[in-house]
Amino acid sequence: MSSAEEYFISPYYEALEQGELRCTLCPRQCCIKPGGLGRCLVRRNSEGQLQSLVYGHPAALQVDPIEKKPISYWKPGSRTFSLGTFGCNMSCLHCQNEHLSRSGSQRSQEYRYLSPADIVRLAKMKNCASIAFTYNEPTVFQEYALDIAKEAKKFGLGTVLVSNGRINPEPRRELYEYIDAANIDIKAFSEDFYRKICGASLADVLESCRHLRHISNSHLEITNLVIPGYNDDPAMIQALLDWVEQELGKDTPLHFSAYYPAGGFTAPATKPDTLYRIESLAKQRGFSRIKLGNLR
Ligand code: SF4
Repeated sequence: MSSAEEYFISPYYEALEQGELRCTLCPRQCCIKPGGLGRCLVRRNSEGQLQSLVYGHPAALQVDPIEKKPISYWKPGSRTFSLGTFGCNMSCLHCQNEHLSRSGSQRSQEYRYLSPADIVRLAKMKNCASIAFTYNEPTVFQEYALDIAKEAKKFGLGTVLVSNGRINPEPRRELYEYIDAANIDIKAFSEDFYRKICGASLADVLESCRHLRHISNSHLEITNLVIPGYNDDPAMIQALLDWVEQELGKDTPLHFSAYYPAGGFTAPATKPDTLYRIESLAKQRGFSRIKLGNLR
């Protein structure tokens, strides 16, 4: 693809009867009618083919300190060229980023076309050590992220993924091979929370964490947004720490962040004491790389 006028045709779909198709990019496995959109709002059935409406059209571009992703233990002090598009494949009731995650098809083309080579050129020009796929969920712009990551490698740039971890095994394998560092959001150590609050599954997210750590050998950090009354139960935090210890190791950096009310979600803001309690618990258990975020 070379211009803004064409839409990128995704390889991640299978044809169904009567012109319908099934997107195979993420576990949502949307069945999309002719002319319709997937649940992420940025993938369309056009005459039986799956189009990515966001390939080449980043809606957010910015140079950030790597610590802002947050990534605290990989290339500290460096600059990362951050980009995101519209769309998301989860439907979290407490979303803190709705202006990007819940918008989609109609707005993407308003943003100028930038090829993967353009992105790498800009990142080099801005003296960045890496390119970060961030702001919205990178799974929904998988093809663009993959092409940028491949291009970045040719020019010695690092690649960073900030993700909810919801992706199917084959695209996961393809993208993660090119990812140097990642921050995966484990929203709660509870399938019930994922099902009711996010419309997703914890198991898929944990599998992505395992893949990054053990198969692609990427640097991995974990974020947990602590929401009072939803995922701050000490037993749930202990279960998260148990899993990280067993599957990823105690040297895994863990970021516990404070929640602030967003959208129509009515949970109260997280008290700093709650985060201090979690930090103390994790440190007692031997986790040494604990960071607290969003404290005001
Ligand atoms: S990537 Fe989008 S269209 Fe594809 S299955 Fe997931 S939510 Fe549906």
